[in-house]
Amino acid sequence: MQTWLVTGGAGFIGGNFVLGAVADGIKIVNLDALTYAGNLDTLSTLEGDPRHAFVQGDIGDRVLVARLLAEHRPDAVVNFAAESHVDRSIDGPAAFVQTNVVGTLSLLEAARDYWKGLEGPAKDAFRFLHVSTDEVYGSLGDSGKFTESTAYAPNSPYSASKAASDHLVRAFHHTYGLPVLTTNCSNNYGPYQFPEKLIPLVIAKAIAGEPLPVYGDGKNVRDWLYVGDHCSAIRAVLERGRVGETYNVGGDAERQNIEVVNAICALLDERRPREDGKPRNSQIAYVKDRPGHDRRYAIDASKIQDELGWKPSHTFEQGIAGTVDWYLAHQDWVRRVLDGSYRLERIGQEA
Ligand code: NAD
Repeated sequence: MQTWLVTGGAGFIGGNFVLGAVADGIKIVNLDALTYAGNLDTLSTLEGDPRHAFVQGDIGDRVLVARLLAEHRPDAVVNFAAESHVDRSIDGPAAFVQTNVVGTLSLLEAARDYWKGLEGPAKDAFRFLHVSTDEVYGSLGDSGKFTESTAYAPNSPYSASKAASDHLVRAFHHTYGLPVLTTNCSNNYGPYQFPEKLIPLVIAKAIAGEPLPVYGDGKNVRDWLYVGDHCSAIRAVLERGRVGETYNVGGDAERQNIEVVNAICALLDERRPREDGKPRNSQIAYVKDRPGHDRRYAIDASKIQDELGWKPSHTFEQGIAGTVDWYLAHQDWVRRVLDGSYRLERIGQEA
């Protein structure tokens, strides 16, 4: 049985990744600091499952990470842990540097020392996979797409901190030989996303009959990928990716923010019409643009498609419909986030 140390596995993408990996018979040691973004409700179906060991702790805690590596002898480390919200990075960049840069450096050092002590096939097979974002490449004009050789040009404190961590991961391969892989993915959406991000925020506010905030003119473009497809891409890179390489991951689904909001409104109008019969897009309220808001991101994912045979299995239309249905069916998960009660429980933790 494979064992993977996953960091940030109580967050949105990490949580989806852990649920999928455990279902496939992989043992997961899940290290998560449980910041506001960590939610053990997401992992409640794993309670008592011997294939999942949850540990509350910081990736920057070198002693703790070294102990976990020595005890569980993982075949891979998959690093999701991060401060991830651009708006929060504008208000307080220091936490982003602390976790995304200093924390990742500490995790890399612990992984390097563990890997050095391995021998034979276990040493050859070990992988450190770093999950990153397309935001490190900066903003595009009306045409073109980010490739793996696009120069880094991060514009927000969030993307700058992720860019720094990507460079450290690269350096640990070139300097120490650590067998690393990096994925740079576009915007994710799907189940268990914290309702501060555009799609779950709009779904929650649309259902509640509240104004739907849209930045600027609503025409900023993002490429959207269903979270399950991101998880399958990470699995493909972990299992078949070439050591030292980076892989761009995207859904080939560019949409303006306003198109995304309108799609959600139309789905909700169909599934749960407002009592007064008004269309939900009447709730849209344009708000002052985010400072330094990147205009357009688009991903060229041909490398992962050609080399590893990965492709997304959801179109944007399928993914967004499934996501709206998921949030409608899991109002309790959303309510517990919004009223803060999700922070009160701590399941299946090691000390
Ligand atoms: P998230 O904010 O939902 O989850 C982050 C998790 O990391 C939380 O559970 C949090 O408690 C944990 N964490 C934070 N600081 C920690 C620390 N110091 N030590 C241990 N755990 C810590 O984020 P997400 O959206 O799931 O993103 C996961 C990763 O994927 C991030 O690295 C992010 O940069 C990257 N990414 C996200 C997207 C996206 O659209 N959400 C796209 C591309 C890449």
